[in-house]
Amino acid sequence: MLRMLPFTSLVLFAAAACTAAPLKCLIVDGQNNHKWKETTPVLKKQLEEGGLFACDVVTSPPEKGDFSGFNPDFAKYAVVVSNYNGDPWPQAVKDNFEKYMRNGGGFVSYHAADNAFPEWRAYNQMIALGGWGGRDEKSGAMVRFRAGNMVVEAMPGKGGHHGPRHEFQIATRDPRHPIMKGMPQLWMHAKDELYDSMRGPAENMHILGTALSKPEFGGTGENEPLLFTVAYGNGRVFHTMLGHDTEAMNCVGFMVTLRRGAEWAATGKVKQKLPADLPSADKVAVR
Ligand code: ZN
Repeated sequence: MLRMLPFTSLVLFAAAACTAAPLKCLIVDGQNNHKWKETTPVLKKQLEEGGLFACDVVTSPPEKGDFSGFNPDFAKYAVVVSNYNGDPWPQAVKDNFEKYMRNGGGFVSYHAADNAFPEWRAYNQMIALGGWGGRDEKSGAMVRFRAGNMVVEAMPGKGGHHGPRHEFQIATRDPRHPIMKGMPQLWMHAKDELYDSMRGPAENMHILGTALSKPEFGGTGENEPLLFTVAYGNGRVFHTMLGHDTEAMNCVGFMVTLRRGAEWAATGKVKQKLPADLPSADKVAVR
Protein backbone atom coordinates (compact mmCIF):
# COMPACT_ATOMS: atom_id res chain seq x y z
CA MET A 1 0.00 0.00 0.00
CA LEU A 2 1.19 3.50 -0.79
CA ARG A 3 1.48 5.74 2.19
CA MET A 4 -0.68 8.82 1.78
CA LEU A 5 1.17 12.11 1.97
CA PRO A 6 -0.30 14.47 4.54
CA PHE A 7 -2.49 17.10 2.95
CA THR A 8 -0.15 19.94 3.99
CA SER A 9 2.80 18.28 2.18
CA LEU A 10 0.78 18.12 -0.99
CA VAL A 11 -0.11 21.78 -0.73
CA LEU A 12 3.51 22.76 -0.12
CA PHE A 13 4.66 20.59 -3.02
CA ALA A 14 2.08 22.14 -5.34
CA ALA A 15 3.06 25.64 -4.23
CA ALA A 16 6.77 24.96 -4.82
CA ALA A 17 6.06 23.55 -8.28
CA CYS A 18 4.08 26.62 -9.29
CA THR A 19 6.20 29.40 -7.82
CA ALA A 20 9.45 28.80 -9.75
CA ALA A 21 9.83 32.13 -11.53
CA PRO A 22 9.87 31.79 -15.31
CA LEU A 23 13.16 32.49 -17.04
CA LYS A 24 13.20 35.87 -18.71
CA CYS A 25 13.63 35.71 -22.46
CA LEU A 26 13.99 38.49 -25.02
CA ILE A 27 13.03 37.88 -28.64
CA VAL A 28 14.60 40.37 -31.05
CA ASP A 29 12.91 41.03 -34.40
CA GLY A 30 11.95 43.94 -36.67
CA GLN A 31 13.84 43.20 -39.87
CA ASN A 32 14.15 39.91 -41.66
CA ASN A 33 13.86 38.53 -45.18
CA HIS A 34 11.45 36.09 -43.52
CA LYS A 35 7.94 36.68 -42.18
CA TRP A 36 9.02 37.71 -38.67
CA LYS A 37 5.55 39.09 -37.84
CA GLU A 38 4.25 35.52 -38.24
CA THR A 39 7.15 33.62 -36.67
CA THR A 40 7.83 35.73 -33.56
CA PRO A 41 4.41 34.96 -32.00
CA VAL A 42 5.05 31.26 -32.65
CA LEU A 43 8.49 31.44 -31.04
CA LYS A 44 6.96 33.22 -28.04
CA LYS A 45 4.14 30.70 -27.70
CA GLN A 46 6.43 27.70 -28.02
CA LEU A 47 8.93 29.07 -25.50
CA GLU A 48 6.29 30.07 -22.96
CA GLU A 49 4.34 26.81 -23.15
CA GLY A 50 4.59 25.02 -19.81
CA GLY A 51 5.60 28.22 -18.00
CA LEU A 52 9.37 27.81 -18.24
CA PHE A 53 9.93 31.15 -20.03
CA ALA A 54 8.34 34.59 -19.98
CA CYS A 55 9.25 36.37 -23.21
CA ASP A 56 9.42 40.03 -24.08
CA VAL A 57 9.75 41.09 -27.70
CA VAL A 58 11.88 44.01 -28.84
CA THR A 59 11.21 45.16 -32.40
CA SER A 60 13.87 47.19 -34.17
CA PRO A 61 13.13 50.14 -36.45
CA PRO A 62 12.46 49.21 -40.09
CA GLU A 63 15.19 49.04 -42.71
CA LYS A 64 17.29 52.22 -42.80
CA GLY A 65 15.25 53.52 -39.86
CA ASP A 66 16.40 55.60 -36.92
CA PHE A 67 18.12 53.26 -34.47
CA SER A 68 18.92 55.95 -31.90
CA GLY A 69 16.17 54.68 -29.57
CA PHE A 70 17.02 50.99 -30.02
CA ASN A 71 19.07 49.76 -27.08
CA PRO A 72 17.74 46.52 -25.54
CA ASP A 73 18.75 45.85 -21.94
CA PHE A 74 20.09 42.36 -22.67
CA ALA A 75 21.45 41.96 -19.13
CA LYS A 76 17.88 41.71 -17.76
CA TYR A 77 17.36 38.42 -19.58
CA ALA A 78 18.45 34.82 -19.08
CA VAL A 79 18.36 34.28 -22.83
CA VAL A 80 18.09 36.34 -26.01
CA VAL A 81 16.48 34.75 -29.08
CA SER A 82 17.21 36.39 -32.41
CA ASN A 83 14.65 36.46 -35.19
CA TYR A 84 16.53 39.38 -36.74
CA ASN A 85 18.26 39.65 -40.10
CA GLY A 86 18.68 43.26 -41.09
CA ASP A 87 20.55 46.53 -40.70
CA PRO A 88 23.70 46.59 -38.56
CA TRP A 89 23.01 47.55 -34.96
CA PRO A 90 24.61 50.71 -33.55
CA GLN A 91 28.05 50.13 -32.06
CA ALA A 92 26.77 50.65 -28.49
CA VAL A 93 24.15 47.91 -28.94
CA LYS A 94 26.75 45.54 -30.39
CA ASP A 95 29.10 46.31 -27.48
CA ASN A 96 26.31 45.66 -24.96
CA PHE A 97 25.44 42.36 -26.58
CA GLU A 98 29.07 41.22 -26.68
CA LYS A 99 29.47 42.15 -23.01
CA TYR A 100 26.25 40.33 -22.11
CA MET A 101 27.52 37.18 -23.81
CA ARG A 102 31.09 37.38 -22.46
CA ASN A 103 29.59 37.68 -18.97
CA GLY A 104 27.62 34.46 -19.29
CA GLY A 105 24.52 35.36 -21.28
CA GLY A 106 22.41 32.95 -23.28
CA PHE A 107 21.68 33.28 -26.99
CA VAL A 108 19.55 31.37 -29.46
CA SER A 109 20.23 31.99 -33.14
CA TYR A 110 17.05 31.02 -34.96
CA HIS A 111 17.03 30.27 -38.73
CA ALA A 112 17.90 33.44 -40.70
CA ALA A 113 19.47 35.14 -37.67
CA ASP A 114 22.61 33.46 -38.98
CA ASN A 115 22.28 35.42 -42.20
CA ALA A 116 22.70 38.66 -40.24
CA PHE A 117 25.75 40.79 -39.56
CA PRO A 118 28.36 39.31 -41.95
CA GLU A 119 30.82 42.07 -40.92
CA TRP A 120 30.45 41.73 -37.12
CA ARG A 121 33.29 39.48 -36.02
CA ALA A 122 32.10 38.73 -32.48
CA TYR A 123 28.60 37.87 -33.70
CA ASN A 124 30.04 35.43 -36.20
CA GLN A 125 32.09 33.86 -33.41
CA MET A 126 28.86 33.46 -31.42
CA ILE A 127 26.92 31.80 -34.23
CA ALA A 128 30.04 29.89 -35.49
CA LEU A 129 28.50 29.52 -38.96
CA GLY A 130 26.50 31.91 -41.11
CA GLY A 131 25.34 32.30 -44.67
CA TRP A 132 24.58 34.82 -47.41
CA GLY A 133 25.25 38.54 -46.94
CA GLY A 134 28.33 38.26 -49.16
CA ARG A 135 29.90 35.53 -47.04
CA ASP A 136 32.68 33.60 -48.77
CA GLU A 137 35.96 31.90 -47.86
CA LYS A 138 37.06 35.07 -46.07
CA SER A 139 34.20 34.51 -43.60
CA GLY A 140 35.64 31.15 -42.60
CA ALA A 141 35.51 27.49 -43.43
CA MET A 142 32.60 25.15 -44.01
CA VAL A 143 31.81 22.48 -41.46
CA ARG A 144 30.50 19.02 -42.25
CA PHE A 145 30.00 15.79 -40.36
CA ARG A 146 31.73 12.69 -41.71
CA ALA A 147 32.24 9.28 -40.12
CA GLY A 148 31.26 10.52 -36.69
CA ASN A 149 33.48 13.59 -36.74
CA MET A 150 33.21 17.30 -37.37
CA VAL A 151 35.22 18.15 -40.48
CA VAL A 152 36.31 21.73 -41.15
CA GLU A 153 36.87 22.46 -44.82
CA ALA A 154 38.62 25.51 -46.16
CA MET A 155 37.71 25.88 -49.80
CA PRO A 156 36.74 28.89 -51.92
CA GLY A 157 33.14 29.77 -52.68
CA LYS A 158 30.01 31.40 -51.42
CA GLY A 159 28.68 30.74 -47.93
CA GLY A 160 25.05 29.72 -47.52
CA HIS A 161 22.66 27.89 -49.82
CA HIS A 162 19.52 25.78 -49.70
CA GLY A 163 17.46 23.85 -52.21
CA PRO A 164 13.67 23.61 -52.39
CA ARG A 165 11.88 23.01 -49.11
CA HIS A 166 11.20 19.38 -48.27
CA GLU A 167 10.86 17.01 -45.33
CA PHE A 168 14.24 15.73 -44.22
CA GLN A 169 15.70 13.47 -41.57
CA ILE A 170 17.72 14.87 -38.69
CA ALA A 171 20.42 12.68 -37.13
CA THR A 172 21.07 13.20 -33.42
CA ARG A 173 24.86 13.40 -33.12
CA ASP A 174 25.30 13.80 -29.38
CA PRO A 175 22.54 11.84 -27.62
CA ARG A 176 24.13 12.56 -24.22
CA HIS A 177 23.90 16.34 -24.55
CA PRO A 178 21.09 17.76 -22.36
CA ILE A 179 19.38 19.33 -25.39
CA MET A 180 19.25 16.02 -27.30
CA LYS A 181 18.94 13.47 -24.51
CA GLY A 182 16.06 11.10 -25.27
CA MET A 183 15.49 12.45 -28.78
CA PRO A 184 15.22 9.74 -31.46
CA GLN A 185 18.55 8.95 -33.10
CA LEU A 186 16.87 9.78 -36.42
CA TRP A 187 13.77 11.95 -36.76
CA MET A 188 11.89 13.34 -39.70
CA HIS A 189 11.61 17.11 -39.73
CA ALA A 190 8.62 18.88 -41.31
CA LYS A 191 8.99 20.63 -44.67
CA ASP A 192 11.75 23.21 -44.29
CA GLU A 193 14.82 24.71 -45.89
CA LEU A 194 17.96 22.65 -45.41
CA TYR A 195 20.81 25.14 -45.12
CA ASP A 196 24.12 23.98 -46.59
CA SER A 197 27.61 25.33 -47.20
CA MET A 198 27.43 27.70 -44.23
CA ARG A 199 30.68 29.44 -43.27
CA GLY A 200 32.19 31.03 -40.24
CA PRO A 201 34.89 31.01 -37.58
CA ALA A 202 33.47 27.64 -36.37
CA GLU A 203 35.26 28.06 -33.04
CA ASN A 204 34.07 26.23 -29.92
CA MET A 205 31.11 24.67 -31.70
CA HIS A 206 29.61 21.34 -30.73
CA ILE A 207 27.39 19.56 -33.23
CA LEU A 208 24.09 18.17 -31.91
CA GLY A 209 22.16 17.42 -35.11
CA THR A 210 22.86 17.13 -38.81
CA ALA A 211 20.92 16.36 -41.97
CA LEU A 212 22.03 14.84 -45.25
CA SER A 213 21.78 17.52 -47.92
CA LYS A 214 20.67 15.42 -50.88
CA PRO A 215 21.74 16.32 -54.43
CA GLU A 216 18.20 15.57 -55.69
CA PHE A 217 17.07 18.55 -53.60
CA GLY A 218 19.90 20.74 -54.88
CA GLY A 219 22.08 19.84 -51.91
CA THR A 220 25.73 19.08 -51.33
CA GLY A 221 25.65 15.36 -50.56
CA GLU A 222 27.15 16.24 -47.17
CA ASN A 223 25.82 15.91 -43.63
CA GLU A 224 25.28 19.55 -42.78
CA PRO A 225 25.25 20.75 -39.17
CA LEU A 226 21.84 22.29 -38.41
CA LEU A 227 21.70 22.14 -34.61
CA PHE A 228 24.73 22.95 -32.49
CA THR A 229 26.02 24.81 -29.48
CA VAL A 230 28.76 27.41 -29.34
CA ALA A 231 30.76 28.65 -26.36
CA TYR A 232 31.50 32.37 -26.42
CA GLY A 233 33.29 33.79 -23.39
CA ASN A 234 31.20 32.64 -20.44
CA GLY A 235 28.10 32.66 -22.65
CA ARG A 236 26.21 29.78 -24.19
CA VAL A 237 24.75 29.77 -27.69
CA PHE A 238 22.23 27.36 -29.17
CA HIS A 239 22.10 27.63 -32.96
CA THR A 240 19.15 26.18 -34.86
CA MET A 241 19.08 26.60 -38.62
CA LEU A 242 15.58 25.15 -38.72
CA GLY A 243 12.23 26.95 -38.88
CA HIS A 244 11.90 28.84 -42.18
CA ASP A 245 8.16 29.40 -41.66
CA THR A 246 5.32 28.44 -39.35
CA GLU A 247 4.83 25.14 -41.22
CA ALA A 248 8.41 24.13 -40.37
CA MET A 249 8.01 25.43 -36.80
CA ASN A 250 4.97 23.19 -36.24
CA CYS A 251 7.37 20.21 -36.20
CA VAL A 252 7.50 18.76 -32.69
CA GLY A 253 11.24 18.20 -33.17
CA PHE A 254 11.68 21.91 -33.89
CA MET A 255 9.66 22.91 -30.80
CA VAL A 256 11.47 20.53 -28.48
CA THR A 257 14.96 21.50 -29.61
CA LEU A 258 14.07 25.21 -29.57
CA ARG A 259 12.78 25.20 -25.99
CA ARG A 260 15.43 22.82 -24.70
CA GLY A 261 18.13 24.81 -26.51
CA ALA A 262 16.82 28.02 -24.97
CA GLU A 263 16.78 26.48 -21.48
CA TRP A 264 20.31 25.19 -21.94
CA ALA A 265 21.49 28.60 -23.21
CA ALA A 266 19.83 30.27 -20.22
CA THR A 267 20.93 27.87 -17.46
CA GLY A 268 23.38 25.29 -18.80
CA LYS A 269 20.89 22.57 -17.89
CA VAL A 270 17.72 21.05 -19.30
CA LYS A 271 14.94 20.00 -16.96
CA GLN A 272 12.16 19.64 -19.55
CA LYS A 273 10.67 16.24 -20.15
CA LEU A 274 10.17 15.11 -23.72
CA PRO A 275 6.62 15.00 -25.10
CA ALA A 276 5.04 11.71 -26.18
CA ASP A 277 4.41 12.81 -29.78
CA LEU A 278 7.98 12.94 -31.09
CA PRO A 279 8.68 12.34 -34.78
CA SER A 280 10.08 8.97 -35.84
CA ALA A 281 12.77 8.19 -38.38
CA ASP A 282 10.34 8.27 -41.29
CA LYS A 283 7.29 10.16 -40.02
CA VAL A 284 7.01 13.83 -39.15
CA ALA A 285 5.10 14.91 -36.03
CA VAL A 286 3.37 18.27 -36.21
CA ARG A 287 1.03 20.17 -33.90
ZN1 ZN B 1 14.34 30.60 -44.70
